[in-house]
Amino acid sequence: MICCRACCRSAATADGADGVDKDPFDIDLVFRLLRQAVAGLPKAAMFALRDAGYASPFEQLVAALISARTRDETTTPVCERLFAVARTPAAMAALDETELVRLLHGVTFPEPKARDILALSRQIAAAGAVPATMEGLQALRGVGPKIAALTLGVGFGVPAISVDIHVHRIVNRWGYVAAATPERTMRALGAVLPERYWIELNERLVPFGKHICTGERPRCSTCLLIRQCRQVGVTASR
Ligand code: SF4
Repeated sequence: MICCRACCRSAATADGADGVDKDPFDIDLVFRLLRQAVAGLPKAAMFALRDAGYASPFEQLVAALISARTRDETTTPVCERLFAVARTPAAMAALDETELVRLLHGVTFPEPKARDILALSRQIAAAGAVPATMEGLQALRGVGPKIAALTLGVGFGVPAISVDIHVHRIVNRWGYVAAATPERTMRALGAVLPERYWIELNERLVPFGKHICTGERPRCSTCLLIRQCRQVGVTASR
C-alpha cells in the first residue's frame, strides 16, 4: 500500500498491505508503542554504553567511531575493553598504535579506526574539550554526520538526528518521510519530527529494526505499529 505523506500524517486511510485498517499517523502514539515494542530487546551499543557509565562526550565519540559498520554485539565489549585502559583524550592519545589496534580486535577496519582515534584524541587534548557542534565534531578526523549526531545527542544531550540504515528504512516504511538516501531522510525528519524525539529516535529504531521491522520480511503480523505504519514498499512480511 502506498499513500501520500501528508495524508498519512493527517487522516485515516484504507486497508494496509495486509488488510489492516490504518489510523491517522500520530507520532506521540508511535513513540509510546515503540517503547513498548523494544522494552525487552538488547539496547543499541551507544545507549547500552551510556547506561553502563560510559556517557562522556569523548567516550560516546570514540564508541560511535568504533561502531561504524560493526555489530553492536562487538562494539559494546570492545569499547568496555578499551575504556578500561583509556577513558580520556590524553590517555587515549598516549596509547601506542599497535596496542590500540590490539584493543580494537574484532571491529571492522581496526587499523584506520586506531589512527582516527589517536588523531582525534590528540586534537581534543590540544583543544581542551570535545566540540559541541556538528561542524566542530565533523572537523575531527574520521567523524561524519552520523557519528557527529550520535555524539551530540547521546554524549551532550543536544537534540540531533542520527540516521543509520534502520532509521532510514523504518521511517520511510511508516510513510512518515519519503527519501531515497539516509542523508535526505535526516533532512526530511528535521522538518517533521518534533525535537523531543530526535535523540530517542535512534535509541528505539535500532533494536526495532534489528528484531521487528527487519530489512527482509518485517514482522508486521505481530507489530504494535501496524495501524500507524503505511508499510510503504513492504511486499513480503511475517
Ligand atoms: S514491522 Fe511492518 S507494520 Fe511494523 S513498522 Fe515495520 S513495516 Fe510497519
